[in-house]
Amino acid sequence: MRILFVVLLLFYFSIAKTIYDLNLKFIEKEKEFIVNGTLNIKSNEEFSIYIPKNIQIIKKDKNSLEFYFKIAKSSFPEIFISQKQLPSLDKLAKYKVKIYPPKGYIPLTEADKSFKYKDFYEFEFPYKKQDINIILGKNWHIRKLALKKDLDIYLYSLNKKHKKDILKLASKYISYYEKLIGKFPYKRFSIVETYNPYGYSFPTFTTIFYPLMNKEFIYKTSLPHEILHQWFGCSAYIDFENGNWAEGLTVYLADYNFSNNKTKYRKLTLEKYEAYVDKDISLRDFKYKKDKFSEALGYGKGMFVFYMIEKSLGHDTFIQALRDFYQKNKFKIANWQNLKLSFEKISKKNLSRFFNQWINDAYVPKLNVKVLSSVYKNGFFHTKFEVKQKKDFEITLPIYIKTFDGMKHFKVKVLKKKQIFTLKTKSLPIKLYLDPNYEVFRHLKDEETDPIIHFALNKKTTIILDKDKDFSKVENKNVIFKDIDNPILKSLVDKSVLNFLKFKSLNFSKDFVYTIKNPLGNKKVL
Ligand SMILES: [Zn+2]
Repeated sequence: MRILFVVLLLFYFSIAKTIYDLNLKFIEKEKEFIVNGTLNIKSNEEFSIYIPKNIQIIKKDKNSLEFYFKIAKSSFPEIFISQKQLPSLDKLAKYKVKIYPPKGYIPLTEADKSFKYKDFYEFEFPYKKQDINIILGKNWHIRKLALKKDLDIYLYSLNKKHKKDILKLASKYISYYEKLIGKFPYKRFSIVETYNPYGYSFPTFTTIFYPLMNKEFIYKTSLPHEILHQWFGCSAYIDFENGNWAEGLTVYLADYNFSNNKTKYRKLTLEKYEAYVDKDISLRDFKYKKDKFSEALGYGKGMFVFYMIEKSLGHDTFIQALRDFYQKNKFKIANWQNLKLSFEKISKKNLSRFFNQWINDAYVPKLNVKVLSSVYKNGFFHTKFEVKQKKDFEITLPIYIKTFDGMKHFKVKVLKKKQIFTLKTKSLPIKLYLDPNYEVFRHLKDEETDPIIHFALNKKTTIILDKDKDFSKVENKNVIFKDIDNPILKSLVDKSVLNFLKFKSLNFSKDFVYTIKNPLGNKKVL
């Protein structure tokens, strides 16, 4: 009996389905659009509908809703309706959407199939999905590329000139990620050029702000980043309550992957973390980017954690685990725990300590190294040194020893708060370097940071000085000087730098920013 019950339950869940069937009709007025809507939910599961505040209810029962809402007209012929403005469900559902757009407008929403009729459009999303987003535009010129089997790529362009063929580039990146992760999840993918500065990715489409369309970084990093989100975030969905894992992974396999200098990228990631994060917060607490601080955490530390996983497991195991994770979590809501399961299954290693340290724990190691002695014995120089940290993080730490014979590379395994190591070199050791290529996510030392502008962009630790003379104000602060003749600036920086700044300031036609280290501040700039 119990077996039968379990079988029936499994059968129920395998056919359990919910369909979100939405109808929207736009009426254009002088200053606004009135949108009349009906929503029907067909479901054999328990569900509840959440209705946002902008929506006025006309009629409501358990499975259906009749409503309307207003959208103020903007200066551009473009309407964006996000999931926050539409009724939503507390569970994943398949979507059917019918839109009667205002005259001249073309609508687009998440869909694997789309049909155009005389005065309305129909969209079908036949897989489970979290929510719905709609964009409508008037001046779009639609171009289609059907190079790939089972996939049409569309460009909704505003008829601006593009330096590169973005459809061909998109197709190239899709092929790249298909080889890496698995088949592209959808039959359609659209790149939508917008008047407003959105840079979003939704299942089956992405938006790009039109002035950015010709920038090299769009072709090189943003486009692959948004395309990769179709796998990570837009089909393996994000469990925001338990931490957004998708940004770190996407930055790692797109922005970082296609960067020209990976060591420099890692260093800049650590520097940005120093510049923007005043108090360490765990990656599990990152939901989405809302400022430079959350970006340094979710995109920066997130990317670095995937770098460290790949470094420790090896490329093949790393990619195989990602494929396993993707196949298991496609059209489901996934979290860090699901990633951990796949990495553990493929690597056959227990990764609890790694995930606890880097995902659950807010702490970021600050490593101190001190050389204790160097002794010549049995034909070798024995360099003894101590590594200290505040917690007992497990870290594979690169140590480089500069000898008379050149640089020697080592790796030591740090497991405790305080640990002593001895390394042997044939030639006389001159200097010992800790992680000189930035392979460990850690707080940088003052001497490792460059005086980059990011430090001055952290508003909390930055002050602006005009004619001030009070030296105590600049201690441990990032300082922006409005005037080169400031007495504090004059006494803190070299004469040659001052002369250079004066020379530069004569050229009024160009703005320029010059940053140097604040000699009165730890990792602070002037
Ligand atoms: Zn992203």
